[in-house]
Amino acid sequence: MKRNTFIKSLGIIPIVANMKLNELGKFTAGFAPSETMPVLFLGHGSPMNAIVENEYAIAWQKLGKTLPKPAAILCVSAHWQTKGTFVTAMEKPKTIHDFYGFPKALFDVEYPAPGSAELAGETKRAITTTEVGFDYDWGLDHGSWSVLKHIYPDANVPVIEMSLDYTQSPQWHFELAKELAGLRNKGVLIIGSGNMVHNLRVLDFNMAGGFDWAMDASATMKKLIAERNFTSLANYKDLGKAVQLAVPTNEHYLPLLYALGLAEKNENISLFNDKAEAGSITMTSLKIDKN
Ligand code: ZN
Repeated sequence: MKRNTFIKSLGIIPIVANMKLNELGKFTAGFAPSETMPVLFLGHGSPMNAIVENEYAIAWQKLGKTLPKPAAILCVSAHWQTKGTFVTAMEKPKTIHDFYGFPKALFDVEYPAPGSAELAGETKRAITTTEVGFDYDWGLDHGSWSVLKHIYPDANVPVIEMSLDYTQSPQWHFELAKELAGLRNKGVLIIGSGNMVHNLRVLDFNMAGGFDWAMDASATMKKLIAERNFTSLANYKDLGKAVQLAVPTNEHYLPLLYALGLAEKNENISLFNDKAEAGSITMTSLKIDKN
């Protein structure tokens, strides 16, 4: 019998007390045991994807309709790098427009999802190998909101971000991800948001697909994912010239390692939005789950 049903069955609870218990239920129920939530790696690409109705947006919208409804979301975004590891812990994270040179319509976008101090606390407790700080200044950068706006357009699922510690190695990030595993059984949807191939220095907006080296790098990464050779993916600097060109800096690649670090042996890894854009970006995304 559920707690509230039990309390109501007593039939003697004053209305005010009952309301308080319901409030308490809201506070704690979100992080009660749940079925294991999927994990996502999302190639986010251009911030414009937030406001255009293209194939990527449609795939994200479909995700929102098919995923189990999460109690909360933890997003590791390429666009929040810090010295040390932090989680946003404010009640109302602001929408950060962390780009320039885009149309006003993009700067007008607000994604008013609530934060979750509770999930920030759960995350801090889950991670024991490093100190996790609470942050009250950041918010949601476009790595989070440009995709979440499509997946959960009502912005009614609490969202926190976890930062990328830029002083640490890729292997360290891959191992850190594993400490988040327990959150998946508490209704938390963990999302890594970046791009597997991401080299802004050589973008070519006239190009519909990817450069040869970008496609080579993408093929190498996908092959290693299919073989579950995540260790080699964490050691991406040893994967040859094409991958080095694809990952000139690793902030967009590290969120992939978070998703892979959370993949259990018995889970499927399915690809979607597996396309290249503007020569040097891939949108390739992963859904990791038991289905
Ligand atoms: Zn980005």
